[in-house]
Amino acid sequence: MAESAKTIVQMMKDRISKAGKGMSNIFYVKKDGKVRIRFLTDMEKGVVIPFHTKWKEYNHPCLELYGKECPRCKEDPKPAEYFVFTIWNYETKQRELFMYKATKCTPIPAMITMYEEYNTICDRDYIITRQGEATDTVYTVLPLDKKPFKGDEEPYTKDEIMDIVFNAYPADDNEDEKPSRKRNENVITDTSDFDEDEEIDYSEWSNKDLKAECKKRGFDYTGKSRQEVIEMLSDNVPF
Ligand SMILES: [Zn+2]
Repeated sequence: MAESAKTIVQMMKDRISKAGKGMSNIFYVKKDGKVRIRFLTDMEKGVVIPFHTKWKEYNHPCLELYGKECPRCKEDPKPAEYFVFTIWNYETKQRELFMYKATKCTPIPAMITMYEEYNTICDRDYIITRQGEATDTVYTVLPLDKKPFKGDEEPYTKDEIMDIVFNAYPADDNEDEKPSRKRNENVITDTSDFDEDEEIDYSEWSNKDLKAECKKRGFDYTGKSRQEVIEMLSDNVPF
């Protein structure tokens, strides 16, 4: 019956979405992708999260934010700052964290321009387009007409934001010391007939597997964040 088939499909979908749960609330635009979003947090209400990022070793928010002693602050006294806003993603139909550094290759500068123009970033939808690849990645921000938001979703509270970020970028993600997860080696190692159409969700991979995959493809992961490495592998282009 169609009904039971649907149930199985739903079960599989649930399982897939659970598998990548850690990263599933972090906004992401694929290469040459286009996503319509609504900011639920205005510019001045954004949360700044200091982030320790050193690809081979760590990629996590400063633990002092969580009232813990932070093992990285000594060696990385000036963590990168991520600016975090809650958005509604019309494509995934969920709230997500729009989380970027204030650098020229992120959508942040464009959003500042929008804020200066409209005095708010919440009164209209935006289409975020990601073009190009590697170091030529460019985000374009297209403002749509002013229109009230139809949904009733609220921005995440600061505590919720901290939880989501902490789960997406755990500080103890030292996979080298954990027993390696069983996976189909063929999927990882056989890139010779890498199917471009087949989406691999690298966000579920351990750092160890990501590094191994980089080495195999001859990609340099030095100094890159986990997110950057995931993007590099997803796009199959080194940068
Ligand atoms: Zn720290």
